[in-house]
Amino acid sequence: MQEKLLSNQQKLNDIQYNYKKIEENIAKAAELSGRKREDIIFLSATKTVEPQYINYAISLGLKYIGENKVQELLSKYEQYDLANTSLQFIGHLQSNKVRQIVDKVDMIQSVDSLKLAQEISKQSKKYNKTTDILLEVNIGKEESKSGVFPEKLQELCCQVSELENVKIKGLMTIPPICNTKAEISSYFSSMYNLFVDIRGKNVHNVSMECLSMGMSSDYEEAIKCGANMVRIGSSLFGARVYK
Ligand SMILES: *Cc1c(COP(=O)(O)O)cnc(C)c1O
Repeated sequence: MQEKLLSNQQKLNDIQYNYKKIEENIAKAAELSGRKREDIIFLSATKTVEPQYINYAISLGLKYIGENKVQELLSKYEQYDLANTSLQFIGHLQSNKVRQIVDKVDMIQSVDSLKLAQEISKQSKKYNKTTDILLEVNIGKEESKSGVFPEKLQELCCQVSELENVKIKGLMTIPPICNTKAEISSYFSSMYNLFVDIRGKNVHNVSMECLSMGMSSDYEEAIKCGANMVRIGSSLFGARVYK
């Protein structure tokens, strides 16, 4: 018992230490890219993390959390302290599960098909709401990953922009695993170029505000390349334990 209490306190201490460190790193990277700390959104990817630890991070100032499985989000939903915190969906989403979460999330970051966007629009309409979405881009064109290929992005963007109850707010990506900072930065820069390109076209009902890229191992590079939202899991909560 004593041991368990101590290890729980240790875990909270670690989260507090990590949170401060990440905040400092984000501020530094923002400055290096000519921006300010407040220009960057720090979202924590909370898969496998128990609500008590998520809520502790929220008490430290965390304002955005993201889950990537529908079942897990639903099982934790009642326990999140969401008064000042935005809950987003960041994982692969099947159309038939949209109705289970559409009333619970502020943004769905992982939209990569017209069919999925149509279902989000249809279900949002039932709640009289417009759901903010990001289009997920498969920037490395990997077979194993979801996301629209870069050359199909413009077309998808135009099609989705016609839907009534969704609003495109930007782009999201998970780049391939890279061995060097130069390699990962080239993917991030390609994403930034796509982002700027679409923003410049001023498509009706599309507001290119959010470029979501960068995780624990590469968020500083992502910010330097133009990301304004990073999604950080293990650097905040420690290595994931899958049960
Ligand atoms: C888990 C996850 C992250 C964070 O991963 P870490 O490497 O632990 O920071 C970011 N984005 C998505 C979509 C995730 O599923």
